[in-house]
Amino acid sequence: MIHRVLSIYADHLDRIWVSIWGEGLYLYNSKQQKFEQYGEEHLLSNNIVYKILEDNSGKLWLSTNKGISVFDLDKKKFKNFTYRNGIQNTSFGTGSGIRTTSGEIYFGGLDGFNYFNPVNLFQNTKTPSLVITGLKINNKHVVPNEKSEIKEEISVAKEINLSYKQNFSLDFVALNYTAPHENQYSYILEGFDKEWQNVGAVTTASYTNLDPGKYVFRLKVRSEDNSWQTPEKTIMVFVNPPFWRTYYAYLAFALFLIISFWLMRRRAIQRLKNKFELEQERLKAKLIIEKERSEAERKMELEQLKIKFLTNLSHELKTPLTLILNPVENLLSNEKSEEKLAILTLINRNSKRLLNLVNQLLDFRKMEENELKLNLVQEDFVSFCKEVFDSFSYISTQKNIKLDFQTNAQTYLTLLDKDKLERILINLLSNAMKFTAQHGNIFCHIEIEDNEGVKLIVGDSGIGIPTTMQTEIFERFFQVNNTAAILNQGSGIGLSIAQEFIKLHGGTIVLESEENMGSIFTIHFPFIRINQPEIHQEISEKLRAGSDFTYIDKSSNDKIVISKPTVLVVDDSDDLRLYLKESLKATYRVIEAADGKQAWQKTLSMHPEIIISDVNMPNMDGVELVKKLKADNRTKHIPVILLTVLGDESQQLQGLEAGANDYLTKPFNFSLLNIKIMNLLELNSSFKSTYSKYINIETPAIEIISEDEKFLLSIGKYIDFHITDSDLSIEELSQQMCMSRSTLYNKILSLTGETPVEYVRSVKLTKALMLLEKSDMKISQIAYEVGFSSPNYFSRAFKAKYQISPTDFIKQQKLSLL
Ligand code: ADP
Repeated sequence: MIHRVLSIYADHLDRIWVSIWGEGLYLYNSKQQKFEQYGEEHLLSNNIVYKILEDNSGKLWLSTNKGISVFDLDKKKFKNFTYRNGIQNTSFGTGSGIRTTSGEIYFGGLDGFNYFNPVNLFQNTKTPSLVITGLKINNKHVVPNEKSEIKEEISVAKEINLSYKQNFSLDFVALNYTAPHENQYSYILEGFDKEWQNVGAVTTASYTNLDPGKYVFRLKVRSEDNSWQTPEKTIMVFVNPPFWRTYYAYLAFALFLIISFWLMRRRAIQRLKNKFELEQERLKAKLIIEKERSEAERKMELEQLKIKFLTNLSHELKTPLTLILNPVENLLSNEKSEEKLAILTLINRNSKRLLNLVNQLLDFRKMEENELKLNLVQEDFVSFCKEVFDSFSYISTQKNIKLDFQTNAQTYLTLLDKDKLERILINLLSNAMKFTAQHGNIFCHIEIEDNEGVKLIVGDSGIGIPTTMQTEIFERFFQVNNTAAILNQGSGIGLSIAQEFIKLHGGTIVLESEENMGSIFTIHFPFIRINQPEIHQEISEKLRAGSDFTYIDKSSNDKIVISKPTVLVVDDSDDLRLYLKESLKATYRVIEAADGKQAWQKTLSMHPEIIISDVNMPNMDGVELVKKLKADNRTKHIPVILLTVLGDESQQLQGLEAGANDYLTKPFNFSLLNIKIMNLLELNSSFKSTYSKYINIETPAIEIISEDEKFLLSIGKYIDFHITDSDLSIEELSQQMCMSRSTLYNKILSLTGETPVEYVRSVKLTKALMLLEKSDMKISQIAYEVGFSSPNYFSRAFKAKYQISPTDFIKQQKLSLL
């Protein structure tokens, strides 16, 4: 780096001063042997010093690029003189300067030279006064008045009151007219500025964005060389807060917050209160509902208990009532004396009435418990209705009421529930009797509508039923408030039961009535007529065999084969027998025997499906009877239930050893007995179906174990031997098997589920099937071969059994071979 030396000077103390271009002044420190530099940083006006001179007082005078400067080494301070002090305004020349002996100093420059005697130089030490000359807010000059930010002239004002976010600036000046450029101003806004702002000759202070608060503006000025300094000038500045930062605003906010909080709390409390009240109300309602429900349940339970009690009572009443009715009927049929007949009829009528009431109660109970079931049997609808209708003839004569029964068909065989139809008719007819006065009419018309079932019309000329009540009378416990002339002794459930029973049959009941003109109940049953000729063969056979079995037309309902199995009740107690008979007669045909001996005879003659026998009996006891039954081929298949005494296990053991199928201890539960009977009958029928399959199995080599199998096999052999015989008769077969015709009928039926005629036909058709499969014989040939009188009849029978005609069967066979 090149240092261009401009001037070198040794002062009166022989200290060496060197000026270097652009670097100011250097003093050589001989002790330390290094230079100390003084330049612009020591307030030298310019770092190009052309010439160094010394005055008498030892101060150094320097000509520079910007005037002349004097350096006081003791104070280490420069003082500069410029064109403002009357010095040329251009640069001085290098090395151009001299001090005369008189002490005057000369410096030469481009515009000539300047000279002066340092001794004569005037030092201004007078401190000027400092004045704030103006206030501008948002760049607008402020004139003092009551409403403006300053109340007095700014130069004398003590404070300025500003609004929020007002920008302001202050103008000021020090009254130094000699060398105003020497004025060095500095100010500070206490509360905003951290330190004094040295702004030199600038005479304005500006502030923006002041926060609300109290500030103090302090201003001072000094001379450039610190020869004087003015006292501070201060003015207070208040920046007022915006309205929302005033105490009132804070108070309002606080109030607002407190009120909002209070309101919120109040609302929350209110909500909680409401919720609590609602909850309480709900709880109350729940309690009430629960109370009502439990009350209703209690009532219901009580009701059920009452009904249960009444039902039990009715059951209890039914047996003695039957025990009254049966002997009375016996007596009635044998009585000749008019007087006694009248009394017996009275007993009979009232017993029947009572029985009807009891039955109604039982029906009602069943209706309540949805236990109503149809027990369909084949029956002649017309004669059944006539029978019931006729039973009212006595009372009608008594009451002088004319009875009229009309029908458009003499018979109508169909499936119906006898018990329920009887109850429907009794209910309607006894109502008619009740509500028809003397000399009135009651009629029952039957209209058979072949494709649409049956219409049963029961009418009377009685008091009639008001139109408004005609639908209600079918409701339970409903009774019309009749005139006092007729005493209504009913319970109000008769018609509801009748309607229920009619519905159960799939039928409808309609009432037409006019007050004092009579009532007509029209019932429609969708019955299907059973065609007798089609089952003629089977029925005549059954009749001959003395069986009470009834068959329905399979085309009308191929699932049901309605039959009433025969139950033999053996007991020496008449009451128990009667009770059992009454209880079982709805489902079974019941025959009775008073001891073992009678039972044996009745078994042989009437072929019961099941026997219920007491153990202790005169002549022949139960165990002996079982032994006898089980030892005989004709009777061994009949299941036996023994009625033993509670706790007597030896009796039970003996009975079971003898071959009884089951036992019941007295006193027994009727439902249990019923289930046991049903189970045993079921077991026997499954046994039958097993044997009916027997004829389809060609296994001649199997070892035969049971007697029944032997029996069936020998029948099979006999049929096989006489297979071509179209006149093969059951009579001959029974003779061959050493049995009566009826025993054979029952035995085959109980083992195979088929009547002998059906069974023989089955065997023949099985053989025919085999021949069709395995031989080349023609259909007509096969028909004669298996003993059918004509090929036509054979074809029909074959199709009925296998659901395919023999011709189609052969076609199918051929197709499967292809
Ligand atoms: P109840 O056991 O009282 O006879 P029902 O259900 O059989 O009960 O009959 C209900 C009511 O209908 C009877 O109380 C009666 O007022 C009215 N009623 C039924 N049948 C007739 C009829 N043929 N003539 C007039 N009123 C009848």
